Amino acid sequence: MALSFDNRYVQLPGRFYERVLPTPVSGPRWLARNHDLGRELGLDDEAFASEATLKALAGNGLLPGSEPIALAYAGHQFGGFVPRLGDGRAILLGEVRGPSGARVDVQLKGAGPTPFSRGGDGRAALGPVLREFLVSEAMHALGVPTTRALAAVATGERVYRDRALAGAVLTRVATSHLRVGTFAYFAARRDDDALARLVDLGLERHAPAARHGDGPAALRLFDAVLEGQAKLIAAWMSFGFVHGVMNTDNCAISGETLDYGPCAFLDDYIPSRHFSAIDHQGRYRYENQPRIGSWNLARFAETLLPLVGEGDEAVKALQPRLEQFSTRFEDHFTRRLATKLGLTGVDDALVDLASELLAMMTDGRSDFTLTFRALYEHAAGLGAGLSAHFADAPRFEAWQRRWRAAFDNDAAPRAERVEAMRRANPRFIARNHRVEEALSHAEEGNLGPFERLAAVLARPFDDQPEHDDLAAPPGSEQDEHRTFCGT
Ligand code: AMP
Ligand code: MG
Repeated sequence: MALSFDNRYVQLPGRFYERVLPTPVSGPRWLARNHDLGRELGLDDEAFASEATLKALAGNGLLPGSEPIALAYAGHQFGGFVPRLGDGRAILLGEVRGPSGARVDVQLKGAGPTPFSRGGDGRAALGPVLREFLVSEAMHALGVPTTRALAAVATGERVYRDRALAGAVLTRVATSHLRVGTFAYFAARRDDDALARLVDLGLERHAPAARHGDGPAALRLFDAVLEGQAKLIAAWMSFGFVHGVMNTDNCAISGETLDYGPCAFLDDYIPSRHFSAIDHQGRYRYENQPRIGSWNLARFAETLLPLVGEGDEAVKALQPRLEQFSTRFEDHFTRRLATKLGLTGVDDALVDLASELLAMMTDGRSDFTLTFRALYEHAAGLGAGLSAHFADAPRFEAWQRRWRAAFDNDAAPRAERVEAMRRANPRFIARNHRVEEALSHAEEGNLGPFERLAAVLARPFDDQPEHDDLAAPPGSEQDEHRTFCGT
């Protein structure tokens, strides 16, 4: 069984995309294949193993039914608007309808230049391709909405960055590639007809229940996108994830995490931490992500104004909706914190308890992931290591007494709360020093550490004692705090 294409984006007018074929490469070779995802999409193991699939996912041949295009979009990059970005190194192979009827975009990243390449080579290096493979699949295993990685193929060719690197192509799967930047592209051109089509498409693909209803369709889409962003960013924050480059061209209206460049998970809980070498101001630091989410939604709202009404009337309709964001984010984030603490009541007492815990963790430079995991183990009666994560013992003991009282008094069944804690407080996250280590081995031709890390991160909530080295924070010699923008 192979992928079955039913391409709808190519049916839009030509100004939405450019038709372009991937550029063939000299020596395609599998680096990684995601068989579970393949099966979900209708690609069985035998077809996945075939030469034809390898060729197609390297850009050396076309799968039957694929109609490759590069999508047009704009974007605010670090706050500044760029009216024409587009897929400069990504090519959409088409829309696949899986056996369950679910539809996804299948895209090659690094498959050669497109009309949007702006002088770039359209290629990707092996390291960033495997980084996206690892981290996006780790996010999926954590239950965070994300694009997926179907395959990574080495090209056998070099790409030139600050030095010559091995090249690779990622096959990315997304419920769509519509971004805030897609809307901004047409808004900048005052193309209301295109915007109306994007609204229809967005509702159809991401909020089918809101397709029909009162008032302008654009408002219904806006509400759905806002809710998706609030949920997504709350999920990131609850696992200590820093996206790193929340530009509006990387802000998918599906509510999926899109674009894994300079992303990382916190080790020590330092809310001001950011990881991108080019983010000099720390715009995309951990603690700033909700604020940027709201900023991005404001840019999204601006694109919708002409569909909502004339002048002030449109602003009056969108502004109060936009203002809902912080409440919606806080709601999702507080619920997640409650679950992490083993509690079900979401009230001021919970907010106090969580705030004091996070404050102690900042002051004590506690490891974000291991501290919460230790709290789960403490609640489950499995371990006595919780206090070791805190620097100030009396303060911790005072907090622990308050937490214990809340935990014992919670009306919901204890076993259920403990199990929910386990599934909210992972043992394993994609620690940057381990990701970097796996990538540097892969660059030298040894995929073993990459494969081990990927397998462990597929079960982040399970204890895997033989792999505890992958759960540990970096030692000072491994203190790797920067990654570089995913080129
Ligand atoms: P990104 O940093 O991957 O989100 O990319 C931002 C923009 O730069 C997008 O329009 C990309 O298509 C484009 N871009 C990034 N790297 C390359 C490259 N190597 N060749 C061509 N375009 C690129
Ligand atoms: Mg991008």
